[in-house]
Amino acid sequence: MSEQLPAAADCPTIDGVPALGIGTWENEDPEQCAESVRTALEAGYRHVDTAQIYGNEEAVGNGIAAANVDREDIFLATKVWIDNLDHDDVIATTEESLEKLGVDRVDLLYVHWPARAYDPEDSLSAFAELRERGLIDHVGVSNFLPEQVDRAIEVSEAPIVANQVELHPYLPQYDLVEHCQDRDVTVVGYSPLARGNVLDDDTIGAIAEKHGVSEAQVSLAWLRQRDVVTIPKATSAEHVHDNWKSLDLTLDDEDVEQIESIEHRERQVDPSFGPWN
Ligand code: NAP
Repeated sequence: MSEQLPAAADCPTIDGVPALGIGTWENEDPEQCAESVRTALEAGYRHVDTAQIYGNEEAVGNGIAAANVDREDIFLATKVWIDNLDHDDVIATTEESLEKLGVDRVDLLYVHWPARAYDPEDSLSAFAELRERGLIDHVGVSNFLPEQVDRAIEVSEAPIVANQVELHPYLPQYDLVEHCQDRDVTVVGYSPLARGNVLDDDTIGAIAEKHGVSEAQVSLAWLRQRDVVTIPKATSAEHVHDNWKSLDLTLDDEDVEQIESIEHRERQVDPSFGPWN
């Protein structure tokens, strides 16, 4: 590991989840994807985020297998796609995901979106069954609105431990984060760099310059200081390492105030089946 990188032991956890993970959406070239995951794990990352729909579970598994890190030390999460949310499909496709990933269990299995085949009782009963069988450790949801989180908590036999939602300075979602955290649902922020868009922001740029860090690190540190887990996607070793160094950055009250004063709002991931549409 490079001397400039924070040590693996320095990665804080939020409710037991490593606060910084590696995202893999659109890291589609299998060799590159495996290499990015291996690079991240060897830099110290202990949280890997994938999904059935990304088409890269096998590559992610190869990256995990290639890294010099024990499987037990890695928090691995995948997501069940919206076509696969009927009870029996949840079971069958999760078994396939485990096979592709080359693991006998995942730490967290999410409902990817509350859409299409999602039915709270039916879908979540399958998640609880998988947990009972030891194929998944925890149940999570993603892209859920506050009332959908509450409904899931109400009907699920297994605790709902996380809601993975889009979060960055252009979509701070203060109310949703508070709602989840009040219910002990850990918030995992996706697209924490607004898919690259916040990197050109003047306010973020000024804070980055003040601390002598990158814009990406500012956005990631801001979310971490809100007790939000982040999973930036990075392909190159340079980006993987740059994001890891956000763990060394602490923003002061003035920085936080400035980020919170940004008025621009922009959602990056907005499919027609999004529950807010
Ligand atoms: P993101 O992490 O906000 O941004 C990724 C983009 O930023 C890529 O173009 C990446 O380039 C670039 N980048 C990364 N680190 C950088 C750095 N230090 N400096 C400059 N550029 C940098 O976007 P995202 O991929 O949408 O979100 C992250 C992860 O969240 C996904 O990969 C996925 O695992 C998850 N996600 C989940 C959902 C859901 O519905 N649950 C939706 C979207 C995303 P390179 O690739 O070239 O490094």
